[in-house]
Amino acid sequence: MHKVTLIPGDGIGPSITEAAVQVIQAAGVSIDWERVEAGLPAIDKYKDPLPKEVLDSIGRNRVALKGPLTTPVGSGFRSVNVALRKEFDLYANVRPARSFEGVPCRFGEVDIVIVRENTEEFYAGIEHYIDPQRSAAETIGVVTRAGSERIVKYAYEYARTHNRKKVTTVHKANILKYTGGLFLDVSRHVGAAYPEIVTDDRIIDNVAMQMVMRPQQFDIIVTTNLFGDILSDLASGLVGGLGLAPGANIGYSAAIFEAVHGSAPDIAGKNIANPAAVILAGVMMLRHLAEFAAADRIERCVREVIREGKKVTRDLNPEAGVGTIEMTQAIVDRVQKSL
Ligand code: NAD
Repeated sequence: MHKVTLIPGDGIGPSITEAAVQVIQAAGVSIDWERVEAGLPAIDKYKDPLPKEVLDSIGRNRVALKGPLTTPVGSGFRSVNVALRKEFDLYANVRPARSFEGVPCRFGEVDIVIVRENTEEFYAGIEHYIDPQRSAAETIGVVTRAGSERIVKYAYEYARTHNRKKVTTVHKANILKYTGGLFLDVSRHVGAAYPEIVTDDRIIDNVAMQMVMRPQQFDIIVTTNLFGDILSDLASGLVGGLGLAPGANIGYSAAIFEAVHGSAPDIAGKNIANPAAVILAGVMMLRHLAEFAAADRIERCVREVIREGKKVTRDLNPEAGVGTIEMTQAIVDRVQKSL
């Protein structure tokens, strides 16, 4: 029996995390879920978006499945997502994007894994107005040699263990000579120790264009925090949108699995959110827990339901007239039948 922290989140979070719990249960994996509240529901209840019991639970269980959490724009409210990554030093954000049969890909087959540095640079929260009149603001993005080394090594080790062929470092070292330059320098140095893997580097603006024109040339992309965040949404758009994109936040002592998308307040409470992204985040979690057979089974069933295109939410097929609950049930039925 695995013990796992479950953060339902807010917006569409509770409905889609519940979907993931049902599908994992249907696959016969025994998990004792420890449910804890963070974000908006925790503010209502505890006046704290990240209560101690959440931190204690993740610290104890070392694995969490998390729904999205809203971060109000422009308010003093700090992102709980960023705070969690910082608290547990979840330095590697892994976001795979692989085409789905049955979901038309505008740009052909895609199979890209984005490995994003998750703790440094512009998401570290070092920012302020420079004067009381608020006439200018400053954000400081620090990139360290140690931080760069561990994320680039993670990308190469991932390539090695997942039998991938190429790692592309994405940067802006032509303009950001110091932060970008340091990251690029470290990546070339680390890459030299993996002769069996092709080492490549590209400038971010070129990559944004190339990913749309010819995404097949990319295998694993490793990059700094902000570029990784943007490129992974782009990659999810290439394979069918945010409703299909899972992610993992990995550290030495804990790992948190979640969808790439946010709390989608525009569709919350309407039974139309696609549960696949968080179910596939659950698949990544099962592999982390060494439940490989169940993970493979669930992934296969999710892909089959999507390929058939009948029991899928409207972001995938507006004509199907199916909601979150019905799509989840279709995946649960398929998993149970395959046992
Ligand atoms: P979003 O990802 O919530 O939504 C973007 C668009 O994609 C919306 O039109 C939404 O309806 C659609 N969408 C997202 N998930 C979907 C799904 N499963 N099925 C169908 N459609 C889906 O991005 P946003 O609107 O920019 O952010 C909303 C809130 O979420 C913000 O407060 C943001 O800070 C937060 N956020 C949280 C996380 C996280 O918890 N890790 C990640 C990103 C954004």
